[in-house]
Amino acid sequence: MDDSDDIETININTMPITITPKKSTYSKQIISLASIIKNYLAINYISYEFEEKTIDDVKVCVSISKNDDDYMICIKSIQVFMEESGDVLHYILYSKNLKDIESCLMHLNYIASYYKLYNGRLISPNRINELKLQNYIIPLKESENCSICYEPSREQTICNHYLCFRCRCKCLNKNDKKCPICRDSNLDIYLINND
Ligand SMILES: [Zn+2]
Ligand SMILES: [Zn+2]
Repeated sequence: MDDSDDIETININTMPITITPKKSTYSKQIISLASIIKNYLAINYISYEFEEKTIDDVKVCVSISKNDDDYMICIKSIQVFMEESGDVLHYILYSKNLKDIESCLMHLNYIASYYKLYNGRLISPNRINELKLQNYIIPLKESENCSICYEPSREQTICNHYLCFRCRCKCLNKNDKKCPICRDSNLDIYLINND
C-alpha cells in the first residue's frame, strides 16, 4: 500500500485541504516507548521520568504523569529551583495536558526540535515570532536586557539584575552561582514574576 491511500484530499473552492489520519503518523519509536510508559504507569507509578536531557542548551528533566483522564508533560530545569510556600522545587519550563501518551511523545519530540527559551519558558516558534514583533513595535527598556548576552529579557535575579535563563544556565554549567553584576550567589534560585 502506498502512502497516498492514507491521505485524503478535498477540494473546496479550488483550495486543497489535506487530511492526514492521526494514528498512522505515529512512528515505531513512539509506539514502542508509549507502550513502555503505559506499562510503567499501570503499576501505580505516578510519573514516568526520562533521563537527563538538554533542550535549547538547558539541562532538563522530562516527565509524563497520569492526571485523571489526561496525561501531563512536565519539563523542569535540573539546575534552577524556585521557592514556593517554603518548599524548594525544580523550576518548571513547560507543562501541558494531552489526551494520550502517544500525543505526549509526539509533542515532546516537536518541543525538543523547535521550541526555544523565552523569558524562562519554552515556547513555540510562532509565539517567538509574535513576541519578537511585539518587541519591535514596543521595545523593552534598555535596562531590560540580559547583562551577559544583551538580548531583551524581563528575567531578573533575586538581586534584581537582568539575566536570561540560557545565560543563567551557562553560569550554572560552570558551577558558578554568582550574579554576573553583583556577585551575589543566587543563580540557582529563580524569582517567579507575578505579572
Ligand atoms: Zn542572556
Ligand atoms: Zn546581582
